Amino acid sequence: EVTMRLNGLVKTYLKGTPGEVQVLRGADLELRAGEAVALVAPSGAGKSTLLHIAGLLDTPDVGSVEIAGKTVNGKGDRTRTAIRRQDVGFVYQFHHLLPEFTALENITLPQLANGVSEKAAQDRAMSLLDRVGVAPRAHHRPAALSGGEQQRVAFCRALANTPKILLADEPTGNLDPETSDQVFDALMALVREEGLSALIATHNMDLAARMDRKLRLEGGVLRPVE
Ligand code: ADP
Ligand code: ADP
Repeated sequence: EVTMRLNGLVKTYLKGTPGEVQVLRGADLELRAGEAVALVAPSGAGKSTLLHIAGLLDTPDVGSVEIAGKTVNGKGDRTRTAIRRQDVGFVYQFHHLLPEFTALENITLPQLANGVSEKAAQDRAMSLLDRVGVAPRAHHRPAALSGGEQQRVAFCRALANTPKILLADEPTGNLDPETSDQVFDALMALVREEGLSALIATHNMDLAARMDRKLRLEGGVLRPVE
């Protein structure tokens, strides 16, 4: 079963100007159910562009995107947003938690926005926090948490609405190496327990080696790395 299919993606910025840059030149990807794939790319190779297109935050010039069996091409903004909110979770290098809300509230709010009851949303949030070892810090605001704890909370938020796909851009990139290892393990444990398909961009080859396979983005296309 394929949970995400990217076909022949082409993306050019500043087309027809002297600054024109063709970032994607026919990128293909099949993400199967339950697999974690590492995306390795030198800076500027187009990793963010690819993740944004995969996460329906941007559109390709050419090519198609299929998410959880749904072809996204030609769909309007409303439908794209609905698919994104239902099927895709995002994690970034920086946590992007809402500073005025507690860890628990940061994970509860996206569920309430999706129509989940307050009780069910809180139960899900506490269960997620517990699984990444941050339950004792549930009622603290992000500023009172360590960098590793903030990232763990961000993982919980990304998974709050039970997406099928996780897209992550250097999810432990702002942490020191030792913390990074532990926090990455916590993320992978969640990905496995939830049966998610994950596409995780990282420069760290040790972390990439813990995933099921590796892809390199180079020259605008994706190729397997041994
Ligand atoms: P990465 O995430 O791998 O560093 P990006 O996808 O951010 O790469 O960018 C790939 C290339 O496209 C870079 O050369 C970048 O400068 C350029 N680029 C990205 N976004 C835009 C944009 N909105 N307008 C023009 N150029 C862009
Ligand atoms: P909201 O429910 O807050 O309106 P959206 O539907 O706009 O959220 O976005 C869904 C997900 O996409 C969120 O995880 C959000 O952080 C992320 N997101 C939205 N816009 C961007 C963007 N321009 N770049 C990167 N991520 C974004």
